[in-house]
Amino acid sequence: MAPQATNSAPIVVIGAGVIGLTTALSLCRAGYTNVKVIAKHMPADFETEYTSKWAGADWVPFSSRGTREMRWDLESWNELSKLARTTPGAGVHFQGKTKYYRNKDLQATELDLWFKDVVHDYKLLAKNEVPAWADWATFYRTLTIDPSIYLHWLQSTCIELGVQFKRASLAHIREAFSMVSPEPALVVNCTSLQASKLGGVEDKWLKPMLGQLVIVENDVDGIYGLSGDDDMDASLGECCYVIPRPGGGGTAIGGCSYASSSKDPDMRLAERMMKRAVSIAPGLVPKGAGIEALRVIRHQVGWRPHRENGPRVEQETISDHQFGQLHVVHAYGLGGFGFQSSYGVAAEVVDLVGSCLSAREDGSSRQI
Ligand SMILES: Cc1cc2nc3c(=O)[nH]c(=O)nc-3n(C[C@H](O)[C@H](O)[C@H](O)COP(=O)(O)OP(=O)(O)OC[C@H]3O[C@@H](n4cnc5c(N)ncnc54)[C@H](O)[C@@H]3O)c2cc1C
Repeated sequence: MAPQATNSAPIVVIGAGVIGLTTALSLCRAGYTNVKVIAKHMPADFETEYTSKWAGADWVPFSSRGTREMRWDLESWNELSKLARTTPGAGVHFQGKTKYYRNKDLQATELDLWFKDVVHDYKLLAKNEVPAWADWATFYRTLTIDPSIYLHWLQSTCIELGVQFKRASLAHIREAFSMVSPEPALVVNCTSLQASKLGGVEDKWLKPMLGQLVIVENDVDGIYGLSGDDDMDASLGECCYVIPRPGGGGTAIGGCSYASSSKDPDMRLAERMMKRAVSIAPGLVPKGAGIEALRVIRHQVGWRPHRENGPRVEQETISDHQFGQLHVVHAYGLGGFGFQSSYGVAAEVVDLVGSCLSAREDGSSRQI
């Protein structure tokens, strides 16, 4: 194999969530040798605004055929699958997912998943495998990611590859250009929801979509999901999923999605979530038991970084009165799909960084 060409241009990534860390990792793998990450929160932290800590998380795309989001999901599937096969310490696993549907939510003939040939062993379950309260069900093997293991793995892999980390909370994006030496040629902005407050960016399209989970000690034999039930409060965007976390992480029970920046779990919602979880995944509790048999580790909420115009992954040159032209690549607003699209997003960032740096080199050689 030809040796990897290296590039010593100094690059700063702001943000150490799944997007910032995957971007730093992908820049290193692409040959960048001088990558720094500046972030207010690191993987050891527990702050509601640090979304990556609170994700489910599994690989079940929401993207539509032919979109860039679908490309991101696919590229990420390839990388995450490789990790699940080769790197047990990353916290990424293949697990079977059973999803139950009611005809009033969706008919089997209406389900059109572009990824059914990507995931493994996709099938419609036979009638006798579907409980009486559901009309039909699918089964496939997909990926789960335990954020409490995976974010640390990403950070330590970055450190092994030479990435330097600096803890700082920036008020303006220009600070990323002055805070480290040598001055970066380019800054990648992975600040997620906080891009709405970051000076020089102040993106007005972002809003937090609250997701709530109950993490329980109880184990179960796979991922489960449900299309709906008559108790679900539409204003809370209630849904139902159960994601086991092999490696000692317990099982995550979800969920919901609604616009809110509350930091407090809604305990009535938590009770509904746990009841649903026990009914779709009865193996969580001893036969005949109810939610009293769930051993709760914690209730948690996180804010999905929803962006009304869709995710922002693009290059921008910002004119700054102090520093002149600031070369920035933005990568934020990944909503409820930041893990499952992370490697595709990072690959696009690496391309944008390369094009921006080459355009600047061409420009300066023409001026000579
Ligand atoms: C309940 C729930 C379930 C989810 N399930 C899934 C799932 O199954 N699959 C999936 O793919 N996704 C899922 N998600 C979505 C996923 O968690 C997010 O898309 C992802 O975590 C966003 O990552 P991020 O790196 O953009 O943001 P964050 O993790 O929020 O990281 C932002 C980083 O930027 C830093 N930062 C921000 N502002 C500044 C500043 N001014 N100065 C310095 N640093 C700054 C922060 O400190 C942090 O390090 C779920 C989310 C929730 C809440």
